Amino acid sequence: MNKIKSKMYICGAVWLFAIPVFSTEPVVDFDGKSPDVKNIKTFIAENAPVLLSVPANKTDSELVVKREILTETGEWIELKPVGSWIDEHGTKYDQYTVKPNWVIMWSLRCPKGNWTAKKTYSFWNEQYGGHYHYDPPPPPLSVSSVSLSASTAPFHTAPSPIIFPEMKGNTTYYYGVWYPAFATKVQEQLEAYGACQGITKTNYIDVKIPGLVEMPEGQNYVLYNSETGMGYHPDNHYGTQKLIDNLKTIADGYRAVFPSAAPIQINDMSLPWGGIFDINQDWKRPFFGHDTGIDADIVTTQVLRIFHVFFVVAKLALPFWAE
Ligand SMILES: [Zn+2]
Repeated sequence: MNKIKSKMYICGAVWLFAIPVFSTEPVVDFDGKSPDVKNIKTFIAENAPVLLSVPANKTDSELVVKREILTETGEWIELKPVGSWIDEHGTKYDQYTVKPNWVIMWSLRCPKGNWTAKKTYSFWNEQYGGHYHYDPPPPPLSVSSVSLSASTAPFHTAPSPIIFPEMKGNTTYYYGVWYPAFATKVQEQLEAYGACQGITKTNYIDVKIPGLVEMPEGQNYVLYNSETGMGYHPDNHYGTQKLIDNLKTIADGYRAVFPSAAPIQINDMSLPWGGIFDINQDWKRPFFGHDTGIDADIVTTQVLRIFHVFFVVAKLALPFWAE
């Protein structure tokens, strides 16, 4: 595993999104703070996803769809489903996983003739992203215009449903979806009309930091959630196994040194699937951190009894693609 020394937050003035990147050698910069690194617009313009092109194939009889994802090292790789299944009506579903605030580029081609499509989508937040709040509703997805080139289309917010333009047959079209910075499960359905009429692609996209685990109860620490937090974000103690192990070590060490003191209190860590921890229930980032499972707030008010000392104690240098 690479030792990661720096953590860079990159915010897009044009794109209005921020992507946390953990890399010693970032190749994409979103805010111009790293002058030696290309910004995302330049990068995409110069590095159209080379694998995206759907090759013409005479054996294709129906809609062809491929997906590409941009990694933090600036490579486009094909995004494969982590699972697929078919329901009792014969409808096929594909399951994908993508990290919060990440882009997937789609390429589409109907070999039969002119066609168009409609895409509908919805967010499933409660048992997945851990956000039990609805007002305001989650902001819509941001998508690029459907284009003949993957490198030129600008992104814009697009509430469901998204109506595609008329597209020519046997021609590859591209469009990108910028997934939210908050964790969620997105259900997407693409329905084709025209020459590819009757074809529907249904996908589930888990927007999540994979592999986070819940901090268990322990003798030497107290897990705390506020009354407000219990209502909106009831599961607030998720993190990487490494963070959890370190917190236990800290709590045990504190108890050993101050055996008669109250145990340390652990406040917010991360939500079950990570992503923005919007403590104001507004889907916005209130502070940096708490979105990848490597942060924990430890309160020592019970210990010091003088000031409310509130500090982040563990900021572990884990690579973004941990484990
Ligand atoms: Zn929330």
